[in-house]
Amino acid sequence: MKGKIFIVGIGPGAREHISLRALEALEEADIIIGYKTYTRLVAGFVDKKKIISSGMRQELARCREALQLLHDGKQVALISGGDPGIYGMAGIMLELIEREKADVEVEMIPGITSCIAAAAILGAPIMNDFAVVSLSDLLTDWELIKTRLECAARGDFVVCIYNPRSKTRTTQIEQAREILLGYRDKATPVGIVRNAMRDDQSRIITTLEKMLSHPIDMTTTIIIGNSKTLVAHDRMMTPRGYIL
Ligand code: SAH
Repeated sequence: MKGKIFIVGIGPGAREHISLRALEALEEADIIIGYKTYTRLVAGFVDKKKIISSGMRQELARCREALQLLHDGKQVALISGGDPGIYGMAGIMLELIEREKADVEVEMIPGITSCIAAAAILGAPIMNDFAVVSLSDLLTDWELIKTRLECAARGDFVVCIYNPRSKTRTTQIEQAREILLGYRDKATPVGIVRNAMRDDQSRIITTLEKMLSHPIDMTTTIIIGNSKTLVAHDRMMTPRGYIL
């Protein structure tokens, strides 16, 4: 029997923000594999006996384990926070399947990615063209990330930032802000959302000038407005020109 893998996006946190298909897949799967933050999030509503948790930076090991189970004919759900295809497990798993020439069935199940969840919490800041940039330079060259930020800033894109600051990567966000300030007013609205759709969710609306005086870590997504973005009634929005 051929194994099947569901590559599942579980959204930002709460069960209400998981798609029905994702819930069905978690139900149907014999085994659920994921990073422990995410397996903890689903542990409340799936059979705990079928969960395998692993630590950070063990992405490839997690995929190899999934492939082994698939060879045994199992149905496996590999879970990612947010969407699996956005800095998630989808690409890694497909690369491995390709390299191993594995004959398995794959179903990709999208999830609400962090910038979409953060935008909803802030108001409507990404109503117009936006760019998503990860500041993690573990796998991408920092010079290239800076070029991408520069291009997004020049093109007046709203910029959504993932992986803004970790314990060891602390200066990237400072440099990113400098690049944006080269093209944007220091009063440009900036939204900082931590733990979107989780119990300890928090949100701050600030400016490009003051953004670094607020807590920023690896559970944070930052949305930097474009030249049209404004704040009204404590909501951040980017008018497209209908009324305002
Ligand atoms: N696949 C994920 C992204 C993984 S990269 C997705 O689609 O959302 C990890 C980064 O995502 C974090 O550093 C942070 O910037 C962001 N992130 C993940 N979960 C978050 C949450 N609940 N609230 C705010 N940001 C989050």
